[in-house]
Amino acid sequence: MKLVGMVALIVALAVTAASPRPVHAQAAGSLYTCAMHPGVLETREGKCPVCSMTLRARPMTPAEQSVADFFKAYDAAFVAKDMEKLGTMYTNDTTVYEGGGVNNGWADYRDKHLGPEMRSYADLQFAHSNVVPHMMGADGAYVTADYTLHAKVGDRVSDGGGLATYQLVKQSGAWKIKHTHTSARRRQL
Ligand SMILES: [Zn+2]
Repeated sequence: MKLVGMVALIVALAVTAASPRPVHAQAAGSLYTCAMHPGVLETREGKCPVCSMTLRARPMTPAEQSVADFFKAYDAAFVAKDMEKLGTMYTNDTTVYEGGGVNNGWADYRDKHLGPEMRSYADLQFAHSNVVPHMMGADGAYVTADYTLHAKVGDRVSDGGGLATYQLVKQSGAWKIKHTHTSARRRQL
């Protein structure tokens, strides 16, 4: 009994020593939440907007991480102007609200909005940040994020960004954008 206990202790110590320290190492894959209000999710430290308690970091769940990874892949496809890849990231019946306009369905968005916009961009930079995934069951998520967009359009520079919300659904094991609404802060320099 004593020997078994010693062996277990040694194994436990060895595992502990070998494990990475999760709290500080996983900042990129962490969310900040309130002990009293788990629905409060932020990407940085701060106070709970409901009760003012200091938010605590916790690692993203695998599902949350898969949503964060989706937006990294989206940004890469966007910068590459890879319309085929982007097409796999929207549902066919997606609705896209941008500013005062709306596009109904991927084909409409591609042909009347995103495609022409992409062709007008040079030196394109685009990225989401502060991606906060609110999981809604296993196959849905409501996501808030910031985005920045920088591009040359003709002889002008479009330098802006804004806020975006997304409704994601999982189809055949992959996340897709079913609805998005962006509010741009855009200025032409
Ligand atoms: Zn709270």
